[in-house]
Amino acid sequence: MKYFSLNNRDHRSTFENAVIKGLAPDKGLYFPEEIARLPVSFFEELHSLSKSEIAHTVIKDYIGDEIPEQELLGIIEHTLDFDFPVIPVEKNIQVLELFHGPTKAFKDVGARFMAGCLGYFIKKGNLGKITVLVATSGDTGGAVANGFLGVEGIDVVILYPKGKVSEIQEKQLTTLGQNIVALEVDGAFDDCQDMVKRAFLDAEIQDKRQLTSANSINVARWLPQMFYYFIAVQQLQLNNKKVVFSVPSGNFGNICAGMLAAKMGLSIHHFVASSNANNVVDRYLASEKFEPKPSVQTISNAMDVGNPSNFIRVQELFQQTFTGLKEKLSSYSFTDLETENTMRKVFKEANYVLDPHGAVGYLGLQKFLATNLDYMGVFLETAHPVKFLETVEKAIGEKLEIPASIQAVMDKEKKAILIKDYKELKSFLLS
Ligand SMILES: *Cc1c(COP(=O)(O)O)cnc(C)c1O
Repeated sequence: MKYFSLNNRDHRSTFENAVIKGLAPDKGLYFPEEIARLPVSFFEELHSLSKSEIAHTVIKDYIGDEIPEQELLGIIEHTLDFDFPVIPVEKNIQVLELFHGPTKAFKDVGARFMAGCLGYFIKKGNLGKITVLVATSGDTGGAVANGFLGVEGIDVVILYPKGKVSEIQEKQLTTLGQNIVALEVDGAFDDCQDMVKRAFLDAEIQDKRQLTSANSINVARWLPQMFYYFIAVQQLQLNNKKVVFSVPSGNFGNICAGMLAAKMGLSIHHFVASSNANNVVDRYLASEKFEPKPSVQTISNAMDVGNPSNFIRVQELFQQTFTGLKEKLSSYSFTDLETENTMRKVFKEANYVLDPHGAVGYLGLQKFLATNLDYMGVFLETAHPVKFLETVEKAIGEKLEIPASIQAVMDKEKKAILIKDYKELKSFLLS
C-alpha cells in the first residue's frame, strides 16, 4: 500500500514514512491510494469473529508487508485490550461507549496503535531516537502519554495550556514520568500549537532531534479508529432498519474513519457530524462554502476546532464532489445550553449520564431521526463523563462516582515544566 499527499498526487509514501513524518513535505495529509471493499464473506461471518480478527482484516491492506503479521497482531491485541459496548438508551437510539480505555477517551485507540507501529519501526531500523512533540487542548495529551509510555526509542514532549485543561486531563499527562515530559505553557492552546509548528520548521532543532507529531492527521492514529465501527455494527440488531452513526466531531478524524469503514462495505448508511458552536461543516453543507473561523470556547472543548484538518480526507472519500458527500453526511450544531439541557434530560428520562461531547452526538442523532424514520441510530460517547466532572455534575445535579483508575491518577503528584515562550521550548529541546 502506498499513500499520496492530498496536496500533490504524484508524491508517494510508504506507510512507515507516513507514520514517521506525519505530513508530506508539501504539508499535505497522506491518503491511501486504494480503498478496497472487503469480501461479502467477511461481513457474513462478522458476528462470529473476535475484535482482533476483525481489526486485522480491516487494517492489513493499509500496512501491506511493512509490519510482519505476528507483530501487527500483537499491536492490535494491545490496542483493543478493553470493551466497546453498544447500549440502548431509548427507542431507536443506542450509544457506542468509547471510554473504557486507560485514559477514558476514544483517542486511546489511535494513540496505542500509533505507538505500536512507531515502536516497531524504531526497533527494526536504524532510526535512532525519535521525539514525539504534541500540543493538546485536553484528551490528546493523556492518550499519547499513556500510549507511548515506556516505548523504547521514543521521547514524548507534550505542551498544554496552563489552567485550560480539566484537572483530570492535567493529571493524566503530568504524572507518568519515564519517557514523558509535560510542558505547561503560560498561554492558550493556539500558542502551544504555534510553538509546535515552529519547532518542526526549526533547522537547529531538526539537527539535534528527529521530531514527529502524534495528532490525528497521522495515518497510524486515523486508520485504527475504523475498528470500533465494525465492532459496533457486529453488536447491532437491525430489524430491517438502516443505520446512522452520529459522531461528535472536532478535527473530523473519527468520523472520517467511520466513513472509510462504510466505503469498505460496512453497513452504515448515513453519518451525522454533530458539533458545537464551531460549525464550519454544518455551514458548508448548507451553503457549499467552506469558511473556517477562529475557534470559540465551549463546554465540549475537544471539539473547539475552527478549521478541521481531516475534513479534506472526508471530501476525498467522495472524490471531492459536494453532491456525493451531501447524500451520506448531515451536520448539525448545538449551543452549550442545549448540550446541558440534554445531559439533564437524558439522565432524568433514561438514567444515562452523558459527557458534553456525547450529549452533542445524541442531539445530532435525535435531529436526524426526527425526519428519517426508517433508521436506527447510534451515537458515539467519546469520553467518560468524569473527565468533565464539574460540567456534568452541574447539569445533572448529582455527584458522579469516580472510577478507581481515575482516582489513582488524581492522587499522583503533578510534574510539569513551566515555559512561557518559544525560546524556552527551543532551549528545552536542544538541552
Ligand atoms: C478529540 C475528541 C473529539 C473530536 O474528535 P475528532 O476526531 O477530532 O473529530 C470528540 N470528543 C472527545 C471527547 C475528544 O477527545
